Amino acid sequence: MLQHTLQHLFDEPSCATNRAKDPKARKQGCGGKPLTPGNAAGGCAFDGAKIVLQPITDAAHLVHGPIACEGNSWDSRHSLSSGPMLYRTGFTTDLSELDVIYGGEKKLYKAIKEIVARYDPPAVFVYQTCVTAMIGDDIAKVCAAATERLHKPVIPVIAPGFVGKKNFGTKLAGEVLLEYVIGTEEPDVTTPTDINLLGEYNVSGDLWNVTPLFKRLGIRLLAAITGDARYHDVTKAHRARVNMMVCSQALINVARKMEERWGIPWFEGSFYGVPETSKSLRTIAKMLVDRGADVSLLKRTEALIAREEARVAEVLAPILPALKGKKALLYSGGVKSWSMIAALQWAGMQVIGTSVRKATDDDKRRASALLGDSGTLWESLPQREMYAKLKAGEADILLSGGRTQYVALKAKTPWMDSNQERHTAYAGYDGTIAFLKGIHKALTNPIWAQVRTPPPWEE
Ligand code: SF4
Repeated sequence: MLQHTLQHLFDEPSCATNRAKDPKARKQGCGGKPLTPGNAAGGCAFDGAKIVLQPITDAAHLVHGPIACEGNSWDSRHSLSSGPMLYRTGFTTDLSELDVIYGGEKKLYKAIKEIVARYDPPAVFVYQTCVTAMIGDDIAKVCAAATERLHKPVIPVIAPGFVGKKNFGTKLAGEVLLEYVIGTEEPDVTTPTDINLLGEYNVSGDLWNVTPLFKRLGIRLLAAITGDARYHDVTKAHRARVNMMVCSQALINVARKMEERWGIPWFEGSFYGVPETSKSLRTIAKMLVDRGADVSLLKRTEALIAREEARVAEVLAPILPALKGKKALLYSGGVKSWSMIAALQWAGMQVIGTSVRKATDDDKRRASALLGDSGTLWESLPQREMYAKLKAGEADILLSGGRTQYVALKAKTPWMDSNQERHTAYAGYDGTIAFLKGIHKALTNPIWAQVRTPPPWEE
């Protein structure tokens, strides 16, 4: 069954990258070079599946495997909840050597039963890991039996770490949603302005910068798949009129299959930066009107965009002159590889280059068009080269994830976290304000003048 699902994902018609892979590359799953076990935090398919499903905040997430799998990626993203906190409880069967010898199915069933009795969640997601896949525990069968006996959806997530990298796990989680969750319940009411966001994980509250805009426009967010999500909302997501795919690679299979099964058109967009936020709102409004929403939505959207753009310009006016002409090196990936360029260029900054790891061909095209001749696209930028660029003063600031922050600090260059480990929401108009204020703060921090001054013994 797993082999069939894996093959199926590699043949996903909307994913040109996977389809172009040879058999050897397919073994590595999505993404580039495989990680070295023990030398990386997270990054396996199980981890990817958990990233997608764990933000269903009222459900229980039970990891069937050794305790280290759960601990491995614990709390590396700040996908926030506005209500239920059950998703933050780490449930695991914590397999021991004896379970490996005798099998862990009974232990798994007992764990599910205990979770249902103690917490009564709307659903339990059960994650397979490398060990339980290799010892042959039939998780799907245990989940089916538990669903029947406990009268609760108990959903198997068959994405053991060894089948590929994180990106592959996100797609496997998408298949789980399509098979067991989306379309299993009907909403009480539907409106012509119902939408879903796919691949929006509410990192540090990103989603909460966008939902007020939807509310002001009279757009109803049926489900964010999945960020600050509730299980029953996701079950009803098939009645949306439009899907917006926020992260290009992660749930492309979900967008395509929802269009096939329920006729929901989708587009790929971003809420990073002023231009992209405005463009995404315009596209949503237009697509909803095309599907029957009142045409006045277009006018309301334009009015809101004009007001918000003017507000952002006014709030940022005191710091924009200091940002103008400053050079940034962007080391991110996926949709951020281009959408953050647009956000920086809007503020008058120059991007000397961006990494295009985990980016689709379309992402690369957009990044290249935005950079023009002034910037470079890197499939990978070894830390040695990154250090050399920063040391030579080619960039005034590095925007990246935490793993490369020390390269910047070693080169005495300002750095700001632009990845999922960050603690600030950067989406929408308010997020743009926070993003650019953060850059300004990093650039103008007096510490740089101090650390760049030669020590007295070198004078
Ligand atoms: S699922 Fe496998 S690769 Fe992933 S953390 Fe567990 S043992 Fe490691």
